[in-house]
Amino acid sequence: MSTLLIVGGGLFGSLAAAYARCKGIEAVVFDCGCPGAASPAAAGLFQEKWAARTLRPHYYYALPLLERLYPIQPISLRRDDGTRESLLFISPSAILEPQPIRQQVTSVGDGWLEAGGQRYQGWVYIAAGIWSGQFLPGLEIYGKAGAAFLFAGEREGRIRQGEANRQCLAFVRDRGTTYFSDGTAERVYSEEHDRLSLRRAAEMGLTEPIQRLWGQRPYVPRGPFFRRIATGTWLATGGRKMGTILGASFARQLVENDLP
Ligand SMILES: Cc1cc2nc3c(=O)[nH]c(=O)nc-3n(C[C@H](O)[C@H](O)[C@H](O)COP(=O)(O)OP(=O)(O)OC[C@H]3O[C@@H](n4cnc5c(N)ncnc54)[C@H](O)[C@@H]3O)c2cc1C
Repeated sequence: MSTLLIVGGGLFGSLAAAYARCKGIEAVVFDCGCPGAASPAAAGLFQEKWAARTLRPHYYYALPLLERLYPIQPISLRRDDGTRESLLFISPSAILEPQPIRQQVTSVGDGWLEAGGQRYQGWVYIAAGIWSGQFLPGLEIYGKAGAAFLFAGEREGRIRQGEANRQCLAFVRDRGTTYFSDGTAERVYSEEHDRLSLRRAAEMGLTEPIQRLWGQRPYVPRGPFFRRIATGTWLATGGRKMGTILGASFARQLVENDLP
């Protein structure tokens, strides 16, 4: 049986690696640590209603895979009027490949890739986020950037409807800290966006961040992208604000339906 060679250790690549391994397939993940990768900044939340009608099938297809591989935590966030919003949560740190091979994949072909001057043979899964386009000429892909901030201490989980249909969220993503994100997603990102996000955080009582997490959510114009681009090579990207669900859905499609 071939090894699954994965380009990118974000949510997409890591979910594929974990699911392949649980089906007895060896998986190797390459990740060169590009600044601006989306997954380390992700809140790790998901909810059926976040999936537009066309993406709803991905939600139902992904859920059994996620349930099998990770503990899914229910999260309850308090709105300003005292009512509560329920979401599901898997910390990105539980999903992300802990020790990928820290090399840049420089080229990819049908059933092979090159990294660190060496050629590897196997099934290839390109899951390189906004950098995926270099491996498939003509693939239109762009990033929508946003910053999340960590604050010291564990605060009560809260949610607040912001302007332009954006939701400000504050909750404990990682022990000992409170994670804040306001859903900012901009193709052209500036310091002003950081300033506005921090003002919204302060309005929820969160000041003096201890860490800034900035990432570019991958978007493909006609929707999330999963395709077999050669007999032994696949490419998946376009996780937008639903990286956990879409990454899991495509991982399941790859491992259950496509790998020989
Ligand atoms: C602030 C913020 C909050 C978010 N919150 C949520 C949320 O609550 N729920 C949710 O579902 N989604 C959320 N998202 C969206 C989610 O983060 C993305 O959809 C998802 O992370 C995309 O995963 P990916 O693996 O495709 O891309 P990435 O995470 O960008 O990973 C791609 C990886 O490929 C590597 N790479 C690129 N080129 C190469 C190469 N040539 N060789 C080797 N490695 C390479 C990079 O280093 C990178 O690590 C959020 C995003 C942001 C920014």
